[in-house]
Amino acid sequence: MINQSQSEIAVLGCGPAGIVTAIGLAKMGYKVCVIANIRAHNVTEGLSERVFQALSTLGLQHTLKEISSPIPRSVSWNGIHSAANTERLIRRVSFDSALLKDLAAANIPFYPETITTVATHPTACLISCKSGKTFRTDFVVEARGRAAPLSKDSHIRGVDSLSICQNWQTSNTQLMSPQAIAISIESGWLWLANNGQGNIFTQVSVSAKSNTGSGKEKLSTFINQLVLSRPELDHITPFIEPEGKVLARSSTPLFNKYPIKDRYLCVGDAAMSGDPLSGSGIFLSLSAAFIAPVVINTILNKPENKALAEKFYFDRLQHLFYRFARVGRDFYQMESRWPEHPFWQERRAWPDQILAHQEKDRLVGSAQRPVVNGSFIDKKEVVITTEQPLGIWKINNKNAVDVLSEQLKKLNNID
Ligand SMILES: Cc1cc2nc3c(=O)[nH]c(=O)nc-3n(C[C@H](O)[C@H](O)[C@H](O)COP(=O)(O)OP(=O)(O)OC[C@H]3O[C@@H](n4cnc5c(N)ncnc54)[C@H](O)[C@@H]3O)c2cc1C
Repeated sequence: MINQSQSEIAVLGCGPAGIVTAIGLAKMGYKVCVIANIRAHNVTEGLSERVFQALSTLGLQHTLKEISSPIPRSVSWNGIHSAANTERLIRRVSFDSALLKDLAAANIPFYPETITTVATHPTACLISCKSGKTFRTDFVVEARGRAAPLSKDSHIRGVDSLSICQNWQTSNTQLMSPQAIAISIESGWLWLANNGQGNIFTQVSVSAKSNTGSGKEKLSTFINQLVLSRPELDHITPFIEPEGKVLARSSTPLFNKYPIKDRYLCVGDAAMSGDPLSGSGIFLSLSAAFIAPVVINTILNKPENKALAEKFYFDRLQHLFYRFARVGRDFYQMESRWPEHPFWQERRAWPDQILAHQEKDRLVGSAQRPVVNGSFIDKKEVVITTEQPLGIWKINNKNAVDVLSEQLKKLNNID
């Protein structure tokens, strides 16, 4: 058995998943380091309140400062315009550099390196970098996002998608109120985020097979013409100028069928990456990053529960991936103007036709399932419902099975 304080863990990648996992492992007493190259993705992303709260719980002070206040979001979908709640904006360059400041504040060493190969053996892992530097550790957390290595048949793939991004600038005073707008278009959907400080970010998501033309110039013409021609954006487009180069990002949903191997565990996009339509990529990344340290601790320090911990991790990831994929599918199904267009046809059918949410949450029963018990994954009796098929162990610190049987007794008036 490995002594926790002596185990060295390398986290590869310094996006939200890598940083949050590294901080979680350090809090458990592990000697952790982060190895990553610093990527300058000049893009804007939208965050839900849940992500803001999760990062607040962790106390990531530098990162929190890079997240905007909630801004109004409007949606124009299926020809219907609605003002639907709010979202928070981040600029990834400053958000990612704030994550590194929080990593430094947690006294976790950071090595700016480009990783070329990772070899895992039953007792150790060897990481090789472009600079010639190598690292030998006891365990590796793969957090290189969509850049993590893929191998043949290693992933479940959603419909192949591409998102084309363009920044714009404005000095028009009428555009100094932040807002986000999502619009369905025949070939896909468009998201515009105005940060109210002179930056306007646009992103058009289309089929990876679509006729946007290849090469930066063609992509740039495609997105510029599309944005400038949208009537829904008439109040914005006369006052904006493109800024910087167009960027194309693959946005195909991917689920890694093997998120844990030997001494190697994937978190964040390296484990599962969803459709940006759901705006939940960072939420999903954090969901894995929050449970990964306990799973790793169980693998290293309670080997008799290794298989249980692996099952726990895999089942949670798979459950989240399909839940968000089905929510996205339902959103695509709400657009009915272009039923013959392959973009809409394919996405309305993927991943399947299973309900994303049950109309009513119904009790299924109880069963023994893996749960997070302190710093280990253990098997406990849980309550299973249709909405919570992986089970509920505790309700207000009481065993859910006990709470349920008390409720049933009350209902049946049994003392
Ligand atoms: C088009 C698009 C739009 C999106 N919009 C949203 C949105 O609005 N809201 C939202 O919540 N999510 C959104 N997402 C998803 C979100 O970007 C990801 O889910 C999130 O960044 C994943 O975090 P991560 O830490 O797993 O990976 P990443 O943030 O991708 O971080 C990976 C890290 O690994 C490093 N790295 C990669 N390769 C190497 C290498 N060889 N050597 C060293 N380091 C390396 C990178 O530099 C980076 O630090 C979007 C995704 C796409 C594609």
